[in-house]
Amino acid sequence: MIIDGKAIAREVRNQVKGEIDSLKRKRGVVPGLAVVLVGDDPSSHLYIRNKEKACKEVGIESSEHLLPEALSENELISLIHTLNRDKAIHGILVQLPLPAHISTGRILQAISPEKDIDGFHPVSQGQLLLGGEGFKPCTPMGIMKLLDYVGCDLKGKTVVVVGRSNLVGKPVALMLLGRHATVTLCHSRTADLKGEVSRADILVVAVGKAGLVRGDWIKAGAVVIDVGANRLPNGKLAWDVEFEAAKERASWITPVPGGVGPLTICMLLFNTLEAARQSMKREG
Ligand code: NAP
Repeated sequence: MIIDGKAIAREVRNQVKGEIDSLKRKRGVVPGLAVVLVGDDPSSHLYIRNKEKACKEVGIESSEHLLPEALSENELISLIHTLNRDKAIHGILVQLPLPAHISTGRILQAISPEKDIDGFHPVSQGQLLLGGEGFKPCTPMGIMKLLDYVGCDLKGKTVVVVGRSNLVGKPVALMLLGRHATVTLCHSRTADLKGEVSRADILVVAVGKAGLVRGDWIKAGAVVIDVGANRLPNGKLAWDVEFEAAKERASWITPVPGGVGPLTICMLLFNTLEAARQSMKREG
């Protein structure tokens, strides 16, 4: 069966909207998100437009900071410090990638962990490793939501994650481990990718290479989450997993687009709501 990410995302968004409406009504608090974009990358502009549209739909107040490519690292850090102090801003999103002259690590570390709704700050990532409280990255959260939605019991299951990026592979592996799955994390130097994949009850692929995972590698009845979104030279989108063949073997499989992508934005909305709630708690 195909996992309908769009329908699941609609449901999550409605839930988030309901909670934001109630926060506004009962406490007069409007969750605020600052979106920071440096440079003119057209894909980044499209991503932030989509994020802002989603914010508007659920009642999050988003403010845009569109900055020139030539901005210095110190100027960007100074803006982030201002946003860290702004009580109307509960979450800060710096759209990546940043221009080469700016250190992504320094910028992400400048964001207060209390406003780190992308979950990229070392404190948030450390909390995830330790199984503590903290914001978690949105794409891995979306993957967990999809697995829960299709009723996937993770306890004791053999899960294979292909790709070990800090954005997707590593955090999702930790989240799955936290839910008592037995997790194998594969990468470009894995000796026998086919062998690892074919053991998986649940397979998560986040690589960015069209057709890397062949359909006939999939274990019969496996749940397959394909994060890969690959733009081919002819402009079409392609999957990391060979979808047509894989869907004949999987019990559940995500499409691209319409699988993980819609959930990623939802989780950003959810984390911004959560940041607003936590700020209210701190203020009593
Ligand atoms: P990334 O940082 O480029 O990481 C790719 C990972 O794949 C690396 O760990 C790499 O291994 C591994 N890899 C490369 N070639 C491999 C091979 N032949 N066999 C096994 N593993 C291999 O990418 P990412 O940021 O995680 O993103 C992955 C994909 O997900 C991309 O297509 C991206 O567009 C998509 N994505 C989608 C969403 C969404 O919301 N839909 C969000 C994020 C990402 P090494 O570590 O050994 O180099």
